[in-house]
Amino acid sequence: MVPNPVIHPGSGEEPPGLYLHIPFCKSRCAYCSFNSYACQSPPAAYLAALASQIRHWAGQQWCRERTFATLFIGGGTPTIYDGSELADLVRLCLTSFTFAEDAEITVEANPNTVSEQALSALRRAGINRLSLGVQAFSDRLLAGLGRSHTVAEVCTAIGAARRAGFTNINLDMMYGLPGQSAPDWQDSLDQALAHAPEHLACYELTIEEGTPFARLVDKGELVLPDEEEALAMAERTHAFLAQAGLQRYEISNYAVLGRECRHNLNYWRNGAYLGLGAGAVSCLSGFRFSTVAEPEVFVGLVEAGELPLAEGECLPLAARFRESVVMGLRMLQGVSFDRLQRQFGLTPPGYYGKMLEDLQQQGLVAVGKDSLRLTETGLPVANQVLARLV
Ligand code: SF4
Repeated sequence: MVPNPVIHPGSGEEPPGLYLHIPFCKSRCAYCSFNSYACQSPPAAYLAALASQIRHWAGQQWCRERTFATLFIGGGTPTIYDGSELADLVRLCLTSFTFAEDAEITVEANPNTVSEQALSALRRAGINRLSLGVQAFSDRLLAGLGRSHTVAEVCTAIGAARRAGFTNINLDMMYGLPGQSAPDWQDSLDQALAHAPEHLACYELTIEEGTPFARLVDKGELVLPDEEEALAMAERTHAFLAQAGLQRYEISNYAVLGRECRHNLNYWRNGAYLGLGAGAVSCLSGFRFSTVAEPEVFVGLVEAGELPLAEGECLPLAARFRESVVMGLRMLQGVSFDRLQRQFGLTPPGYYGKMLEDLQQQGLVAVGKDSLRLTETGLPVANQVLARLV
């Protein structure tokens, strides 16, 4: 292992992240639009293909020249595979790529797919952050979402993770659920905090096209909290979690100081990342490409010795700059002019001119000496503000 350079020499780039995608879940949740497929017994051939891709990419010059700062194994449900299989995958990554000594290594898990033994194996392999898909501390609401676990399983999983030595745990939570009231959400937050998580991600349920929930909404058979109620839940969240020591650092993410998710911070800063596995996306120094989404096609192409790529594009500098501004404004600290200047030779006041002045006059953004951020007024309408800067 080599020390983590703050800036990659000569490129203005910060150390990249590595993402591995496991596209299988025990069953499909009714709101899910992720690249995931229901299966009880995930195929060994998929892990073999992923391992082959890890070896391939670790040998490429772009990767050999870099020290990776984070590894994130996401899904799907990565822990649908045995702890020992996942531990082997992590070890392969850590020995194939160069990682910083203090690299953040995360695995996503669903509460009914982890045992203390599996979590201990993952911890020993080097995983130091666990992200659990909880969503709600109510069996009624979990059943309504089509989640495959119960609240009791959530509590058991968190206890097992603590005993296995995890000191950095994220709980994914959702509000604005069908049949959820503001007191229900408050109850879920109370129960989440009782486990003293280091990180909480609190997303509002969004209805995505093609999901079972979208069909129910179309038929008028799914009643969601109205906009005002959902906004009240969101506003309550910020104040309540701040009192509990979890600072909001991104529109939907809260952390104890120093436990912000470094892997996601790299995305929001529009940093470089390599994504391996079905449907994964990579962005290497402005060249973005995606992998084929279907696991069988992915495995077939890798076994045939071909690169399993779907499409790629080389983003023009100005487009990358705008993207960096839009994604960076998701973070409460906003975007740094110095960082943008180093990467693109551009700053928001110079690039957007009058449009930015208008947003500032409307009180939606704050333009400082070296940074641009959304204001308290701008944050609740972030999507509308960001759409003007795309
Ligand atoms: S667990 Fe996550 S990825 Fe799997 S079906 Fe549910 S929402 Fe989708």
